[in-house]
This record gives sequence, structure tokens and C-alpha cells, in this order.
Amino acid sequence: MGHVVVIGAGQAGSSCVAKLRNSGFDGKITLIGAETAPPYQRPPLSKAYLLGEMELERLYLRPLSFYQDQNITMILGDPVHSVDASSKTVIVGKQVLTYDDLVLATGSNPRRLPASIGGDLGGVYVVRTLNDVDSMEPEFTEDKRVLIIGGGYIGLEAAAVAAKKGLKVTLVEMADRILQRVACPETSDFFRNLHQSHGVEIVEGVGLDRLTGDGRVSGAVLSDGREIEVDFAIVGVGITPSIELAEMAGCTIENGIRTDAQGATSVDGIWAAGDCASFPYRGGRIRLESVPNAIDQAELVAENIMGAAKDYVAKPWFWSDQFDVKLQIAGLNIGYDSVVTRAGDKAGDASFWYYKGDELLAVDAANEPRAFMVGKRLIESGKSPAKERVGDLSVELKSLLK
Ligand code: FAD
Repeated sequence: MGHVVVIGAGQAGSSCVAKLRNSGFDGKITLIGAETAPPYQRPPLSKAYLLGEMELERLYLRPLSFYQDQNITMILGDPVHSVDASSKTVIVGKQVLTYDDLVLATGSNPRRLPASIGGDLGGVYVVRTLNDVDSMEPEFTEDKRVLIIGGGYIGLEAAAVAAKKGLKVTLVEMADRILQRVACPETSDFFRNLHQSHGVEIVEGVGLDRLTGDGRVSGAVLSDGREIEVDFAIVGVGITPSIELAEMAGCTIENGIRTDAQGATSVDGIWAAGDCASFPYRGGRIRLESVPNAIDQAELVAENIMGAAKDYVAKPWFWSDQFDVKLQIAGLNIGYDSVVTRAGDKAGDASFWYYKGDELLAVDAANEPRAFMVGKRLIESGKSPAKERVGDLSVELKSLLK
């Protein structure tokens, strides 16, 4: 049945190889990863693992024995530097591997601060890999002052862990409000209040001018001229898809590696899945940065390598844990023009329902798992309850499904 080579031993890569075997693929499978760790989950890196509440072994997606038992060759700690689509070969270390199908599951890279503004100083971290988190964890000691640059989910989660561990936390967000790129003002307000109630200083509408220090960061100058002292800094300013190998192979790039609905790139025999792939969605094209997408897309690619010819129907959802709040997000809010707030069962909990006209697009549910489930089912079945009913607490959540 040929040889499938998967580059990227992360969430998508691991899901793809498991699904191939699970679907009866009995050819050769090679999974190649740049990191030395076997495939692991990233979400706990900014949550329970950073907090010290999760063991390393529990991060691993599957035990090492799984790959041996399934006859999957894993090459770890060795990035692929070269892909040649005309000879269908990849080079890893000193090996030249010939593939029949190649899956690019290369994920994404965190944006870093340029060296010109102190991005290369010691004590400046990003949160992407196990190595990143293991190297910053010793800094998390009581009373240290941490500056977090970027008020997206990763920055806010790191801020929550730091505050819980007794650090003095300042978070700067250059947009007018935290979460501006991904959420409505109501959700931003909810998380601003949450963080402030735990002593996190949130500075919005102010960027970082530069980090200062002699070899190691010791201060920061903000765009409003304010100078602060810091012991270390965490940069959470987004990611860019890893497209270098795809470019080398001649694949079309469009906000990530462009695929068709089945996960095939523009180059014969090359597929892409996960954070690195952009795919058709509701008449447009999107790229999602989430675990559920990485799994679903990678499994679909595995099935299509086996000849299923199935289209990907994305069912976007996401979550974030901060302090004692579990946020669950169903759908995508792109293009929303109104938001309905529904108070939760417990004081302070709430869900925020995004509409475009009368169409329900997405739900942010903070400690409201039932609102998330109902919203998700509604969105996936294309149903939109009237806004008045959503906001009316005398209307039971379940009855919105009817
Ligand atoms: P990855 O899991 O990043 O795997 C890609 C792998 O490819 C990497 O290991 C990389 O080293 C490897 N690679 C790249 N280039 C090469 C090469 N040339 N040769 C060999 N290997 C290569 N999502 C959620 O849904 N919920 C959350 O709460 C959540 N929290 C997150 C918290 C953190 C701190 C981070 C970093 C991410 C979080 N995400 C969350 C996002 C989620 O983890 C990603 O969307 C998901 O991991 C994407 O899977 P992937 O396989 O596409 O990429």
C-alpha cells in the first residue's frame, strides 16, 4: 500500500498516523518530528502543566508502545530540511525517504519580538513547546514580576497561572481591549474583571516599546512612555503557520498551506492538516488553530489517503482555562453584528451568543457547559433561535433546540 511520510509529530501528525492504522492501512508509515518528545498535547502547557498540576507523562497523546505496536516508525529530534516533490523524497538527517503520500502537519511558530527591542534578552519566553515551558517554569516563584505581552488566550492563561503562583503580573495589550481579535467586548470585559479580581494588572491600548536589560531582561518601556521593572517576560503575540517545507515542495500558500476540501495541497501526493493548513469554509477560506481541528482534519486526510474522497466539514470549537473559569467556544464569530448575553446559573457565569442578523454564529460560554452544548448543536445543525428567547432566562436552554 505504499509509504506515507508524515512531517510534524504533533497533534495532527499523531492523529493522522493513528487513523491510518485504525482504517486498515498496512503500508509503511514514518512520523518525523523536530522535537525530541513524542507527540503531546499543547493546551496544558499554559494551564495545568505550567501550574504544576499535571505530570509530564499525562501530556503524551499516546504511549510510546503504541507507535511500536502499530508498526509506525518515529524519527524524533530531527527536523526535515528538504522535500523534493518531483522525486517524492524527503531528507531527514542522513536518510533520504521516498514517499507515496506526504502529510505536512508542521503546525505553527510563535511570533517573537525582534532583537532590536530586546526580544533576544535572557528571561524572555514564548509558550509553544514543552521545552519553552520547562525552561520558563523555574521563573514562576512567588513575588517575581512578570510582564506578559499580548492579551490573547495564551497570554491570559499564562497570566492566570502566574497570578495563582503568587507572582506580580502585568499584561499589556496594544489593542483597545484584551481578546479583541477573537472575541466580543462582553467576553473581553468578563476576562478583564476576572483577572483584575485576582490582582493581575491589565494595561490595554498600550504596546511594548522595548524590553531593557544587560544580557537579561530587567525592565520594559511601554508605548505610553511608562517604565516598569520586570524579572522576566512572556511573549504571546500570535503564531504564524509553518509553511517553509510546503513552499520548498511548490505547494500554493494562502494564509498557510492551501488545501482543497479533502486536505490535498496543490502538489500531487502532498496533503496538509492542522495549524499549518488553510481550507475552504462557507464560501471562503480559513485556517484554525485548535486541537479539535487538528484531529478532525488529520483523520480526514488519513481516510482520503485510503481513497475515501471525503470533504472536510469543520465544526469549530475551542476552550480556555483561566483561574476557576472554563471558557468553551462553539462556532466562529467572524462577521457578527450583535451579541446576546445570557446570565449563567451561578452569579458571574454567563454565555455570549454572537449573531449576524438573525443567524447564530458562535457562543462563548464561561462556566456554562450546557449553554456551550446547546449552542454547538444549534450551530452545527444550522439552527438559530430568536435572540429574545436566548436572553430570556425563563426560556430553558434545552428548549432553544426545538
Ligand atoms: P503542533 O501540535 O504544533 O505540531 C506540529 C509539529 O511539527 C511540532 O512538533 C513541530 O516541531 C513539528 N515540525 C515543524 N516543522 C518540522 C520539520 N521541518 N520537521 C519535523 N517536524 C517539524 N487549542 C485548543 O483547541 N484549546 C486550547 O486550550 C489550546 N491551548 C493551547 C495552549 C498552548 C500553550 C498552545 C501552544 C496551543 C494551544 N492550542 C489550544 C492550540 C493547539 O495546541 C494547536 O492548534 C494544535 O497543537 C495544532 O496541532 P498541529 O499538529 O497542527 O501542530
